[in-house]
Amino acid sequence: MTERKQGDVARRADKAPMATAWDYAPAPESRDIVRIQERYGLFIGGKFVEPLSGERYTTIDPAREEPLSEVAQASKADVDRAVKAARGAFDGTWSKLRPSERAKYLFRIARILQERAREFAVLESMNGGKPIRESRDVDVPLAAAHFFYYAGWADKLEYAFPNRRPRPIGVAAQIIPWNFPLLMLAWKIAPALAAGNTVVLKPAETTPLSALLFCDVLRQAELPPGVVNIITGDGRTGAEMVAHPGVDKIAFTGSTEVGKAIQRTLAGTGKRLTLELGGKAANIIFDDAPLDQAVEGIINGIYFNQGHVCCAGSRLLVQESIYEATIAKLKRRMRTLRVGDPLDKNTDVGAINSKQQLDKIASLVQSGVDEGAEIYQPPCKLPERGYWFVPTVFTNVAQSYRIAQEEIFGPVLSVLTFRTPDEAIEKANNTPYGLSAGVWTEKGSRILAMAQKLRAGVVWANTYNRFDPASPFGGYKESGFGREGGRHGLEAYVALDDA
Ligand code: NDP
Repeated sequence: MTERKQGDVARRADKAPMATAWDYAPAPESRDIVRIQERYGLFIGGKFVEPLSGERYTTIDPAREEPLSEVAQASKADVDRAVKAARGAFDGTWSKLRPSERAKYLFRIARILQERAREFAVLESMNGGKPIRESRDVDVPLAAAHFFYYAGWADKLEYAFPNRRPRPIGVAAQIIPWNFPLLMLAWKIAPALAAGNTVVLKPAETTPLSALLFCDVLRQAELPPGVVNIITGDGRTGAEMVAHPGVDKIAFTGSTEVGKAIQRTLAGTGKRLTLELGGKAANIIFDDAPLDQAVEGIINGIYFNQGHVCCAGSRLLVQESIYEATIAKLKRRMRTLRVGDPLDKNTDVGAINSKQQLDKIASLVQSGVDEGAEIYQPPCKLPERGYWFVPTVFTNVAQSYRIAQEEIFGPVLSVLTFRTPDEAIEKANNTPYGLSAGVWTEKGSRILAMAQKLRAGVVWANTYNRFDPASPFGGYKESGFGREGGRHGLEAYVALDDA
């Protein structure tokens, strides 16, 4: 080397630049593709209507703490209007339509979602705070894939349930959370429509915008009015939907606490219910695991979507013999995570969805420190405005600590150790939840043995957070009941008569 320049580029003798440090230049996705209206009504009977309540609230961009739009707060009377529109569409058109016609609409919706993918991805990141890389590569493509998948089932239901005669249930009230707004909408609406039901859906209070944009997709697809109704509002609107006598089925994804309240309200009513609730998944690393791959799996398991994931691998169980090596590699990898602008294509960890959630994460992390766990957070410069939390790992965690027991729903990992497979299973199952788990080992027989004993609806082997519309997802114990995805996902939306 004959010449060296100051800065991060050195020059070799042949004058070709050689990078000596890798800083990322900002690569923000343009917001221009998205047209957000100043205010939205409620989408009932195929058009936007003013809320009878007259009430609205502001939805914001959590990365900038800036208002994005005013959305309606649906009241009891608004819920009633939406349920009546759904009932009218069920009796009048949708339940009478040939199944292949229903499929046609679902295929259309899937294709339009693909065509408008960038618009949806940008909007999802603006309203929810998740990195554009994830909304672009995971949320939106998977949402379209769900519509494609269930479009395929619409005219084949008798093959899904051999020797039975499946028929639709009626009007489904669907309540979804803020962590995957468009994807959860697709998980709920696609199977319901494929099976011939109509829908009233409420997105979460903090993330209504992709559901409201989806109304435009329905218009483009020329879906008959009233088949899908989208109403916005907070938990009070959700409670009115659950209590409405004209609803035949409730599908809820959210916290275990609200799930239990819904179950209490529905007791004795005969309404059908599926609940997809919280989790505290164990990600189990055996000493024969490919360690670098496993570390990627740990990172993906807990820092994907800022840890706002019901199946997040929030409890890491590491075999004692590889504990030091695993933690060293994990910390090194954490130092490379880029936290910041969700619309930057280089961002790994975006904004926390709301101030309320940020406070909850901070208070649980404080409890971990107070109870005696050892905290590690990589050096990290956070933006001045917005809601942010540095990726965090706790070691020296006892099973009894709150951070090992409660769902944090943030980028916070608790590490425990084990010596034998039996101990790993005992510790993994020692939780009121049972949604998911991960196993890392090179032995196929061990994977199968573990999967059989883990009380979790989904067990990933040598990977984590993989989703496919054909694969059922759902929980045990306090993680809820019922399955979404796959043929199983149709079961929640059909009544089965004997053939
Ligand atoms: P909630 O369970 O309150 O929210 C989920 C959905 O239910 C939202 O649409 C919400 O509306 C609605 N809702 C709230 N109260 C009622 C009610 N009484 N009857 C019917 N629907 C209702 O979750 P939060 O957003 O409050 O988050 C709290 C915690 O729950 C998080 O910290 C996390 O631990 C966990 N959570 C788990 C999720 C999962 O997928 N497992 C998803 C989201 C949260 P609104 O948004 O207006 O409150």
